[in-house]
Amino acid sequence: MKALKFVIVGHVDHGKSTLIGRLLYDTGSISPDKIEEVKKTSKDLGRETEFAYLLDHLEEERKQGITIDTAQIFFKSDKRQYVIIDAPGHVEFVKNMITGASQAEAAVLIIDVKEGIKEQTKRHSYILSMLGLKDVIVVFNKMDLINFDEKRFDIVKDDIREFLSSINIDIKSSIPISAKNGDNVFNRSENTPWYKGPTILEGLDSLKDRVFKEREPLILPVQDVYKIDSKRIAAGRIEEGSIKKDQEIRILPDNKTARVKSVEKFLENVTSASKGESIGITTYDPVFLDRGSVICGGSKELYLKDSFRANLFWMRKENFDKKDKIILRCATQEILCKVEKIEKRINSSTLEIIEKDADILSNLEVGEIVIKTKRPIAVNIFSKTPSLGRFVLVKDHNICAGGIITGI
Ligand code: GDP
Repeated sequence: MKALKFVIVGHVDHGKSTLIGRLLYDTGSISPDKIEEVKKTSKDLGRETEFAYLLDHLEEERKQGITIDTAQIFFKSDKRQYVIIDAPGHVEFVKNMITGASQAEAAVLIIDVKEGIKEQTKRHSYILSMLGLKDVIVVFNKMDLINFDEKRFDIVKDDIREFLSSINIDIKSSIPISAKNGDNVFNRSENTPWYKGPTILEGLDSLKDRVFKEREPLILPVQDVYKIDSKRIAAGRIEEGSIKKDQEIRILPDNKTARVKSVEKFLENVTSASKGESIGITTYDPVFLDRGSVICGGSKELYLKDSFRANLFWMRKENFDKKDKIILRCATQEILCKVEKIEKRINSSTLEIIEKDADILSNLEVGEIVIKTKRPIAVNIFSKTPSLGRFVLVKDHNICAGGIITGI
C-alpha cells in the first residue's frame, strides 16, 4: 500500500526535530547502534538523550545522495508506512510541493504550548493553506513545561483554531504532547488523563483511512500510443482510481466516450489495474488517443477548462512578464497559455504582498494568478485531484515555474 507523505512545520525551537526523532525511536525505525551513538553524543555534552540529534545523523546521509533538496524520512505504524518530507527551509518546501518533486498529503503543525503562536507558526500555516494542504494535525508540544495543564492547553488551542480557520485550514486533531518524553506521540500519556483524543500516530492513521476510503474516479494521462500489429495501445500511469476491461471511459479534451477492450501490462496477463500502475489499454471503438489525452471515469463530465486560478512559484533569474506566452504542462498535456492576471505578487520567504495587480514576477516570488489556455484542457483543483491540479510552465525546454490550481 502507498505510504502517507506528510510534513511537519512550526516555529524554530518548538520541537520539530525532537518530534521526528521521537517518532522514529518509538516506532523502532532507528537501528540500535544509531541510538547508542546519539545517547553517547548527548552524554558527552552532559545532556539527556536529545532525539533531535538523530536528525543530524540523517542529515549526513542526506548530503551523500542529493537528488532533490528535501529529505524523506521513513517510519511505520502497525497500520502503514509514513514518509516525513523534511525540507531545509520553506522556500525549498514550497518549490518541491509545487513542482511535485516531493509532495506532502497532510501536515503536522507543532507549537510550543508555553510560547503559543509565533511568527513562523503563522507563516508556515499560510504556506500550507496556499499549497492546498488543508488537513492539519496540530500538536501542542512541551506540555511538561506547563505541568500538563489543561487550561493553558485550551487557551492556546482556541487561539490557533481561530487563526487557522481564518485561512481556511481544518484542524483534524489537537494533541497535547511532549516530544522529548514521548507523551501522546506513540504512547498514550498518563499525564493527560483529561485528554480523550488520539495520539499523534493514531491521528495520522485515521487521516490515511479517510483518504483511502474516498473513491477516486479514474485519471490516466496518456504518455504514448504504440501500434503493435493491428492494435493501438495507449500507455500511461494511473494517477487516480482504477480501470478494468469493459469499463466505459471518457477521453479528454475531446470529451468522447469509449469502452475498454483490454488492459495490458508488461509480461503480465491482467484485466484491471489501479493507481500507481503503468499500463496500456485498447478500446473497442476506434477513438483518437494521443500523448496528452487524459482518460477518466465515464460517468462524470469533468475537468475541461480553459481558464483557472492558481498559485504560481516563479524560479528563474529572469522576470516573468505578463505579456509572455508560455507553455503549460499538466500531467502529459502541453498547451500554450497566457497569464491574464497577477492579482498578488508575494515574497515566498516573508509572505509579504509586494504588489497587487502586478505585471511581472521575479525569482522566488509567488503569484496569485489567473491563467488562460489556448484550448480547454483537463484540470481540477489541486486538493481534489493532485495530478490534474499541479502544473509547470516551460520556456525553451526549461521549467521556469510550478503552480497549483486553486479554483476552476
Ligand atoms: P526545532 O527547531 O523545532 O527542530 O526544535 P528542536 O527539536 O531542536 O527542539 C528545541 C529545543 O526544545 C531542544 O532543546 C529540545 O530538547 C527542546 N524540546 C523539544 N521538545 C520538548 C519537550 O517536549 N519538552 C521540553 N521540555 N523540551 C523540549
